[in-house]
Amino acid sequence: MAKWMAYLLWSLSLLLSWQAQAAVDITSPSVVINPASQVEVLEDDSAQLSIHRLLEQGEALSWRPLQQEVPNFGFTRSAWWLKMELENGSPAPLRRHLELASPLPDFIDAYAVDSQGRVLQQWSTGSRRPFASRPVSHHSFVLPIYMGPNETRQLFIRLASHDGLLPAMPLLLMDDVSFLERTQTKLMAYSVLYGGLLALLLYNLLTFLATREKAFLYSVFCLGAFLLFNFTLRGFGYQFLWPEWPRFNHQMLLLSTCLLYVALTLFSIDYLSLKRQAPRLAKGLMVLTGGLIISVLPSFIGYFAWVVQAMLPLTIGYALLLLGTSAWLSSRGDGLAQIFLLGWSGLMVGIVLYSLRLGGFLPYGLGTEYALEIGAAFGFLLLAFGLACKINRLKQAKLEAERKTYELQRTLNHKLESKVHQRTYELEQANRKLAAMVRTDPLTGLLNRRQFEAQINEEIQRRQRDGKPLLFAMMDIDDFKPFNDTYGHQAGDEVLLEVANLLKAHFRRAGDRLFRLGGEEFGILLEADSLDAGRFSLERFRHALQQLQIPHEASRHGVVTGSFGLVCCDEYNQLPSAMAVYRQADQAMYEAKQISRNRVVTRALVAEM
Ligand code: GH3
Ligand code: MG
Ligand code: MG
Repeated sequence: MAKWMAYLLWSLSLLLSWQAQAAVDITSPSVVINPASQVEVLEDDSAQLSIHRLLEQGEALSWRPLQQEVPNFGFTRSAWWLKMELENGSPAPLRRHLELASPLPDFIDAYAVDSQGRVLQQWSTGSRRPFASRPVSHHSFVLPIYMGPNETRQLFIRLASHDGLLPAMPLLLMDDVSFLERTQTKLMAYSVLYGGLLALLLYNLLTFLATREKAFLYSVFCLGAFLLFNFTLRGFGYQFLWPEWPRFNHQMLLLSTCLLYVALTLFSIDYLSLKRQAPRLAKGLMVLTGGLIISVLPSFIGYFAWVVQAMLPLTIGYALLLLGTSAWLSSRGDGLAQIFLLGWSGLMVGIVLYSLRLGGFLPYGLGTEYALEIGAAFGFLLLAFGLACKINRLKQAKLEAERKTYELQRTLNHKLESKVHQRTYELEQANRKLAAMVRTDPLTGLLNRRQFEAQINEEIQRRQRDGKPLLFAMMDIDDFKPFNDTYGHQAGDEVLLEVANLLKAHFRRAGDRLFRLGGEEFGILLEADSLDAGRFSLERFRHALQQLQIPHEASRHGVVTGSFGLVCCDEYNQLPSAMAVYRQADQAMYEAKQISRNRVVTRALVAEM
């Protein structure tokens, strides 16, 4: 029921508005013309109707009220006529500026007609015509209208497209002051936007030069492409840069859109690390960007509406993919993606709204018209913040890497140091062993002959200094050759070892020194107070050796025995030579052999001339 009532009311209002297409009162300084109540529209399918035919046929034509908030015909091949009545109710002549507030309509033909049907003023302009065709040098279209006191005039505006797109176009009627104010405010707003973005661009460029971080370069591309795109879209490019080239102007618009997508793709992939985090999505973005680039190609042969038609779904798909990707990464806790999502969602929503409005799917409004600029300003600002965060993150990662390298180096140094220590220790051990090997006899471990020669002089001097006698004995195993012959060389070696061990066990005083002088001969430097004491020690040893009971059948004693020659020097009037000590001990030992073997022969050392 309520639905029916609403329908009835709507139909009634339509009927009323039809009846009451009110004239536009131009005495007020600023009017936004309301198409629903003040404008009638006529669709000319053939696009052939001229103003004269139109005036001739008059009310016979099917004029109808324009049921829109803003004239917006979207994709269409027809020519569209708008009709409105302007009324100067004041007693003075008036001048007004009618702004058709869009830089995009291709062809605009407007006629001011008096009550007798005479065309008093006429304009022929549009974005497909040279800039010089504009009556007022302005980025959109401005028609100056003059009306005498108490005059009424009909205004006819014919809108036609080059190849099928008529974008939205609000109609504003203003006096000089209002026009100036509006223009200045708008210029100021755009100056702030462009100036801000340009400053950001230069800043990012310098930051890129300083840091060589690619994300900054891509953001420079993004900003540059957006500036070019917006500058062209809003008609400033045509007004200030290429006023003679309408065709180029349209191509530039699509080309800069393409550049913007390419830059945005490069930036997003780098900033969000998509190749690493979501390689398929990165590929999807690149494919869509490729599609956008291809779709723009027909613009070079003059097709504009087609390109826009192809780009609209691609753009929406692109925006959704980018938003979806960043939303997905954000949900995984990626802080950079969260900033990206927040920043770009503004711009993306702006692009989608603007695209839908451009296609006539959404009504005109400040929100849909300037969503682009507002979204971009917000987006680029957050982008700068996001980049700073990214740099910060990179710095952290670098610091972490440096810390790890440092740790690693420290561990390595530590390891190296301990290895060096270990090796040094091993080397010292080896040296010690080597030194010992040089000093000792390998079989018995006793000092060798060379040590005897090295130490004997020292010992003589030391004992002289201490006032102690020097006792030196030589020992030779008896009948050792037959022993070897009987039991083998190996057994002989074992006996040598046993004798050496017995020597070590017996002569353990600090001053005792044991030598293997060669073959089965040993030397003993004794620490003893007298010759008798020395003899006693040697006898004890001789006895002990015999008691080892090492069988030796070729010996007259039946066991291994030894013969000893001991010399003693306790008067140091003249220092004995090492040679003399050795020789005389050897002689004493020889004497022991001569007598019976297995015996100790002692003698005092006699000075040798
Ligand atoms: P004696 O001293 O009682 O007069 O008779 P001997 O047989 O011991 O005398 P000689 O000096 O002629 O013999 C020494 C032997 O010692 C010769 C060699 O076979 C043996 N000999 C020397 N050095 C070694 C050794 O390192 N190992 C072994 N197994 N035998 C050795
Ligand atoms: Mg011998
Ligand atoms: Mg011998």
